[in-house]
Amino acid sequence: MQLAEGGFGNPPQAGNLPYKACLTCYDENSPISMPLRFYNTLSQQVEDFSPARDNTVRMYTCGPTVYDYAHIGNFRTFTFVDILRRWLRASGFVLDHVMNITDVDDKIIRNAVARGQSLDEYTAHYKEAFRADCALLRLETPEHVVPATEHIHQMALAIDRLNAGGHTYSSDGSIYFRIATFPEYGKLSHNDFSGIRAGARVDVDEYEKADARDFALWKAPKQGEFSWDEKIGRGRPGWHIECSVMAIEYLGETLDIHAGGIDLIFPHHENEIAQSESLTGKPFSRFWLHAEFLMVEGQKMSKSLGNYFTLRDILGRGYPPEAVRYLLASVPYRKTLNFTFDGLQSAKTAIERLRNFKLRLETGAFPGGVNEALAERTRAAQSQFDAAMDDDLNTAEALAAMFEYLREVNTAMDAGEMRADNRGAALDFLAHFDSIFAVLQPTAEAGEIGDAEVEERIQARNDAKKARNFALADQIRRKLLEEGVILEDTKTGTRWKRKSS
Ligand code: AMP
Ligand code: ZN
Repeated sequence: MQLAEGGFGNPPQAGNLPYKACLTCYDENSPISMPLRFYNTLSQQVEDFSPARDNTVRMYTCGPTVYDYAHIGNFRTFTFVDILRRWLRASGFVLDHVMNITDVDDKIIRNAVARGQSLDEYTAHYKEAFRADCALLRLETPEHVVPATEHIHQMALAIDRLNAGGHTYSSDGSIYFRIATFPEYGKLSHNDFSGIRAGARVDVDEYEKADARDFALWKAPKQGEFSWDEKIGRGRPGWHIECSVMAIEYLGETLDIHAGGIDLIFPHHENEIAQSESLTGKPFSRFWLHAEFLMVEGQKMSKSLGNYFTLRDILGRGYPPEAVRYLLASVPYRKTLNFTFDGLQSAKTAIERLRNFKLRLETGAFPGGVNEALAERTRAAQSQFDAAMDDDLNTAEALAAMFEYLREVNTAMDAGEMRADNRGAALDFLAHFDSIFAVLQPTAEAGEIGDAEVEERIQARNDAKKARNFALADQIRRKLLEEGVILEDTKTGTRWKRKSS
């Protein structure tokens, strides 16, 4: 399977002392950090988080249905999951994370049949598009990216066990989960289902049609549909069983975290709990985290409303992918986020401010020694950043801590108060910030000159100046400007930045 590989270099997990842990090493006066806390949909409380066993977080997140390109609403949820992953690692945990790829469902079958393609032929293109979009958005690849169609047999076996446990009934060749056999049904969505009609059959695979009824575990094939031949009969799995089976197979009977978009709470996650706990008799997941919607003019961004943009749409309008990432990450995941192009432009501007700040720190000429007040300010800003992230991933507060710091340090640099020995800690803080937000490195556009190339040409220009070949030096500068790179000569060397469009 391409997705798990085709990667974009997840950082190593073991051996690196997590940055947060280092913060407490060097200053005995630094505040004792609050524990990492998440809002748990199951308990409806903010709870302290740590994994149940050893130092490993066993996490399952619901992945895309690959019937079309994902839109940036989908990517809001996947970006939240990425920030979650990165913060868990910064907190010193090792990740064992599974994400499914739903590559068989009603829409996929309908579209594949209409095009006269096999399921694999139809979904291959959208799987690859999803992988490419994730890479552009700098979303780390989970440890296991698992397509449903590679686990059909395990799903059939699980359904067989549910049959044996009396949790199912068959009708017209399909097998349904009997919700009446799971009295705790509703505990995640906090819905009261005491009035449901036992035995009612409704196909809720298309989850907009969610209803408090029994659901299909195994669907008899309709004329001309794809199906698998299993002991339980010919058919294909329903959507919900896919996640239960793959989560348990890779992570064990009880997960530390299960996450997804808020629309999945009911019925999808409720159904996952009913199936999994009926199979194992154990709690399915200790924590349930759900991301709120990306909205457009007050409505959920969705395919069915037609109010969506894919990542390709946005990049086609000239915005860099990291601006999309920044925008999606900037609002805490439990708050709705209204998508606007103004917001995207502000994200782009914010990234430029951060990059220029980094450049100034790297290239500025500062007198020797340390400014103690600034050193203290750096420590305080880091603590604020970490405290915000520990507080249920409050990315807005974390960004506020970074920008307040940026403003103060810029003022200190303007006033000549910055000292050479403050530089390292400031850059470390920026690196820590970027290990989570991942926006500082520009994405080279197709045909755009890369960073290394810019550095090389600056070196060539410096060499030309040394050789007193000023015509060549000017020519290199002009050429860079044509390609969107502005040079600025300072006492300590040449700085450069990209022209903002
Ligand atoms: P799907 O490909 O439809 O299975 O959806 C993939 C993920 O995107 C799920 O976790 C959904 O909850 C999530 N999702 C869909 N629409 C939005 C939206 N407008 N905002 C945030 N998440 C969304
Ligand atoms: Zn799922």
